[in-house]
Amino acid sequence: MIDLHTHTLNSDGTDTPAQLINKALARGIEVLAITDHDTISGWDEAIRHLRPPMQLVLGSEISCQTLEGISVHMLGLLFDPNFAPLAEVMQKTRENRYGRMEKILTRLNKAGYLITMHDVLQQLSEGATLGRPHLADALIAKGYVKDREEAFAQLLHNNSKFYVSHYSPTPEETVRLIKGAGGVAVIAHPFASLRGRTLPPEVFASLVEAGLDGIEIDHRDHSVAEREQLRGILTEYDLVATGSSDYHGTGKLNLLGEFTTRPDQWEKLEARAREQRVVTA
Ligand code: AMP
Ligand code: ZN
Ligand code: FE
Ligand code: FE
Repeated sequence: MIDLHTHTLNSDGTDTPAQLINKALARGIEVLAITDHDTISGWDEAIRHLRPPMQLVLGSEISCQTLEGISVHMLGLLFDPNFAPLAEVMQKTRENRYGRMEKILTRLNKAGYLITMHDVLQQLSEGATLGRPHLADALIAKGYVKDREEAFAQLLHNNSKFYVSHYSPTPEETVRLIKGAGGVAVIAHPFASLRGRTLPPEVFASLVEAGLDGIEIDHRDHSVAEREQLRGILTEYDLVATGSSDYHGTGKLNLLGEFTTRPDQWEKLEARAREQRVVTA
C-alpha cells in the first residue's frame, strides 16, 4: 500500500515519527510519505526508524492562500530541503502562525473563552508547527469542548468569526518553489468543500503552468461528485492521481491507509522528481 499524506507531532498529528513508521509497517504500508504542515522537522527521526520493506517519502504539506483568500494545501514531496527559497517561505509561515494565534485568542477571550498563549503552547511539542488543532487541544483541556471535531465545528472552522488567516504563499508560487527544489507538487484535497471555500476549477490551468504534478483525489473529505469532477481535470491536464489518509493519529478519525495511491501513479509521480530521493532502510 502507498500512503502519501500523514502527520506527526511535528505538526498537528499525535504520533511521533517513530510511532508513525511502526503503525504504518503494521498496517502493511510499503511507501509512506511524512508531510507535516510547513516543516521538515520530523524527517530525521523518521529516517532513523525506517525498516524494510518500507520506503520513505520525505515531504511537507505547505499552507497556501490565493489572492482571493482561499486556503489551499500543497503537498511537496521529494524536494531538496536545502533549497533556500522554499525553506525560507516555510519558516516565514511557521513564524507567522504565532501572531495569528494571538489574534484568534484575542477574539476568543472577548467571547469569554479564557485561553492563553501559554495554554496553547503547552499542547505543542518542541519544534512543531503551531496550528488550530493545538488551540483545540487547549479548549479541550479547559473543558470548553470534548474533542477537536467539536472545537472545529463550533469555534475554529474557516468561516468562524474567530478565524484569522496567517501569511501563506500563493499556490502557484508554492508549486514553483517545490519544483525549483527538485520535488513534486500534489494539491491536497482541493475540493474538500466541508472545510470552506475551494478553488474554482479554472485555476488548475495556472497551477499546471507553474508545474503541478498531481491531484489528491481519493481523500475522506471529498464526496463522490467532487472526486468525479477532479478526475475530469486530471484527464484534461494528464496529471497523477493520488489517494491518501491524511492521518493525524488520534487528532482526526482518518486511519492510515484508508485511501491509497496506485503503484502506476506513484511510479509516474516519482519519475517527475529531479533526483531519486526515496529513502530505503
Ligand atoms: P491551521 O493550519 O492552523 O489553519 O489548522 C488547519 C488544520 O486543522 C488542518 O490541517 C487540519 O489538520 C486540522 N483540522 C481541520 N478541521 C478539523 C477537524 N474538524 N477536526 C480536527 N482537525 C481539523
Ligand atoms: Zn493537519
Ligand atoms: Fe490539508
Ligand atoms: Fe494534511
